[in-house]
Amino acid sequence: MTDIKSLSYEELNNAVQSLGLPRFRAGQIYSWLHQKGVQGFDEMTNLSKDLRLSLCEEYFIPTVKIEDKYTSKIDDTVKYLFKLYDGEYIESVVMKYKYGYTICISSQVGCKMGCKFCASTLAGFKRNLMPSEMESQIHIAQRDLGIRISHIVLMGIGEPLDNYDNVIKFIRTVNNDNGLNISMRDITLSTCGIVPKIFDLIDENIPITLTLSLHAPNDEIRSKTMPVNDKWCVDEAIGACKEYAKKTGRRVSFEYTLINGVNDSEENAKELAGRLKGMLCHVNLIPVNDVKERGNVRSTDKSIKRFCDTLCKLGINATIRRTLGSDINASCGQLRRRKNEGDANENCC
Ligand code: SAH
Repeated sequence: MTDIKSLSYEELNNAVQSLGLPRFRAGQIYSWLHQKGVQGFDEMTNLSKDLRLSLCEEYFIPTVKIEDKYTSKIDDTVKYLFKLYDGEYIESVVMKYKYGYTICISSQVGCKMGCKFCASTLAGFKRNLMPSEMESQIHIAQRDLGIRISHIVLMGIGEPLDNYDNVIKFIRTVNNDNGLNISMRDITLSTCGIVPKIFDLIDENIPITLTLSLHAPNDEIRSKTMPVNDKWCVDEAIGACKEYAKKTGRRVSFEYTLINGVNDSEENAKELAGRLKGMLCHVNLIPVNDVKERGNVRSTDKSIKRFCDTLCKLGINATIRRTLGSDINASCGQLRRRKNEGDANENCC
């Protein structure tokens, strides 16, 4: 059985032709799958019953179902725990901003990267998500909330550049004007720094926003929390981002999670500013989210502000990220972990 929703338009066209069907059927099916986001062939009401049956014999639409939904009491943030067709769980978060709705989606079930502060990686890696499973997170949230999502961030569970081909296919599909029609500029991909894949991304010629999870000003500190740094060091990761900014003309963002006493001193801010000097970039400062098993302590408000001010004084564009949905543990991997441990309802609203 083939996942029909993960086929590109050309692949779907070939599939339709090999079933002996006229070309326009490919357009109809594509629109049902990607514009309307149907979850089953029976919803494709302008196809005959026979045609729907013959599609069912060779193809399937991998199901993504809402297992739990958490709505923040503080803001309009909604977090979903989705169950996949094979019983695995992933998470997405929908956030409301002035300019519209943004969804943060997962790209893998679990993660191999091993970052010490992150919940997604605690139980290791299970499998890659297919393009359709990434897209369905958007379709289902849109349908459930009755909204149109205009921005996507690949910052949920998983390392998107470790599922490169599926992620690129997903991005091209959501950008298709016969599908969700989301602008490339409104898509952000966050990576822990898989350097060769950043260079591959430059060659794709898609002007998405790139974010590097940096979290440290030097190799000594970064290697303590991010094992990926032993493969590609801070200079190599920032170097790849500089190249990305140069070639695409897009401003690169750096995520910097502040952990008390680990990476939040004034000295650390000065060193970071030195490394980013002259670059088209933005630093997002994020107070670390408490993950029970990790034991990281959030920096004080005073040291977060001092860090931000130091960067700005030295000419580096920096902001402190507003924490949305803090009452529902809306950071990646925490819900899936609870579900797998059997206490997912702990924070249910
Ligand atoms: N693998 C990708 C995307 C997923 S993680 C990446 O590393 O960028 C999304 C972001 O959340 C990353 O910047 C990650 O470092 C950050 N993050 C993970 N756990 C966190 C926590 N407990 N507190 C704050 N940020 C966290």
